[in-house]
Amino acid sequence: MSVLAPWQQRPLQTALAALMAGRLGHALLLGGAARLGKRAVADALAARLLCSTPGADGLACGHCRGCRLLAAGTHPDFLGIGLEVNEKTDKLRSEVTIDQVRRLGRQFALTPQLGGAQVAVLDPADALNTSACNALLKTLEEPMPGRYLLMVSAHPARLPATIRSRCQRLEFRIPGRDEARQWLLAAGHAATQVDAALEAAHGHPGLAADWLADGSLELRRSVRADLAALAAGKAGALDVAARWLADERVELRLSFAADTARDLCGRLAGAVPMGEAAALTARADFTKLSAWFDAANRTRDLLRTTVRADLTLAGLLRDWRLAFAGT
Ligand SMILES: [Zn+2]
Repeated sequence: MSVLAPWQQRPLQTALAALMAGRLGHALLLGGAARLGKRAVADALAARLLCSTPGADGLACGHCRGCRLLAAGTHPDFLGIGLEVNEKTDKLRSEVTIDQVRRLGRQFALTPQLGGAQVAVLDPADALNTSACNALLKTLEEPMPGRYLLMVSAHPARLPATIRSRCQRLEFRIPGRDEARQWLLAAGHAATQVDAALEAAHGHPGLAADWLADGSLELRRSVRADLAALAAGKAGALDVAARWLADERVELRLSFAADTARDLCGRLAGAVPMGEAAALTARADFTKLSAWFDAANRTRDLLRTTVRADLTLAGLLRDWRLAFAGT
C-alpha cells in the first residue's frame, strides 16, 4: 500500500479511533474535493474492517486470508459499487442504478463467509440516481451489525439530506500550504516548480501533483500568454482558437483561462496583490471579466456538443478582448 499523505491520514485515524471505541458508523461518507485521495482511505479502511489480524498501527496486516483475497479482488464479503458499463450501449453509465443498490442489500443480508464483516465501497456516491437513493435509504435505516458501507464523494452536497444525515462524515480538506509543499518536495519535485504548481492549483496538492506530472503548468503559462496577447490586440481570436483546438487539451485550457479571469477579478476587487498582472489589470472591465468567467465555463460544456467548435471558441476569445475596452 502506498504511503498516505497527512490530509488522508487525519480522516483515516478518526475512523480507526471510532472503530476502536466501538463508535464507527455503519455508513460513512468520505467527502471533500476531488484528487485528495478519498478512495485510497476508503480502501485502507475496508481492508482494515476485513482483516482478521490487524497490525499495531491499527491497519490491515496485508497477509491474512482476508487481506490476500481482498488484494486479489475475490473477497466474498466485499462489494465495490461504481459506474458500470451499460450493456445496451457499451458506454459507461453516468449514474449508479437501483439494481446496484439492490445487489448491495442482498450482499449485506448474507452471513459473512470469512466470519468477519461485510464491507462495500460506493464511489462516486453522488452518482446515485433518485430511485437508487430511495432504495439505499432502506438499507441505511435498518443497519445490521458488522455491515459497513463506505461512500466516497467529491460532491457530498448533491446527495439527499435524508442520506447524508444517516452517514458518519469523514471530511477531506485541502491542507495548509506548508504541508502541501513538503509533500510535493518529498515526492522529488523542484521547489520552484512546486511553488508554481501550488499557486496555480490554489493550494490543492493533488491537482498540483497531477499538473507537475503531466506538463500542464507549461500549458497554463501558454494560455496566459495567449490571453495577454489577445487583450493587447497582438493576437487574433481565430488563430488562438485554432491552436487551442489543435490537441485534446482545450477543456483544460478553458479551465485555466476561466481561472485567469477569476484571478483578474480578484485583483480588481483588491483581494489579490497586482504583481505581474498589473498592466493587464489596469485596463480590465470587472463586469465583463466576471461575465467572461461564466461564459468560459459554459463554453467548456458547449464544446462537447457543438459542430463549429472553432467559431464558438473564437467568439469567446473576441469577448475576452472586449473585456479590455480601455485599449
Ligand atoms: Zn489482514
